[in-house]
Amino acid sequence: MESMRPDWDTYFIAIAMMAATRSTCIRRQVGAVITRGRQIVSTGYNGAPSGTSHCWDVGCLREMLGTPSGERQEMCRGSHAEANAIAQAARMGIATDGAALYCTHEPCSLCTKVILNAGIVRVVYMHPYPDKLAVELREETQVVFEVFPREKIVAAREWISRSIGLDNR
Ligand SMILES: [Zn+2]
Ligand SMILES: [Zn+2]
Repeated sequence: MESMRPDWDTYFIAIAMMAATRSTCIRRQVGAVITRGRQIVSTGYNGAPSGTSHCWDVGCLREMLGTPSGERQEMCRGSHAEANAIAQAARMGIATDGAALYCTHEPCSLCTKVILNAGIVRVVYMHPYPDKLAVELREETQVVFEVFPREKIVAAREWISRSIGLDNR
């Protein structure tokens, strides 16, 4: 039965995938999970800030202008999953210093700045995102950025579908 259990990285990445389902972004659904030790302390997904209208209701300028991926994020009203997870921790008075962040996508440069200043020490992400400045910034620091291995993404998806089966017992 031990082999049926996801390891910790798979467990947290799968939960980041679930968080992404709450996204209201027209272009990309992103989820993030912040952990300290083996505990989840915050989650986030991309979408318009609390109390404001969603891109899919009022339209998104980036979408209308066909802005390429990785450029002009400031034109979208949406706030990114990683920034939202950090803001959620701040709101609840939870420290992010020394924490890990799991994300469905590679953090952009704007999120990378916030991640570095939030004291996060390890980032695990699944899908690459084209942002050269993000890579430049993070390579100047000791913060560890890791790609979640492809074969383990399959395992994470299987684990999510297994959770649906458990629900019926
Ligand atoms: Zn938008
Ligand atoms: Zn971002």
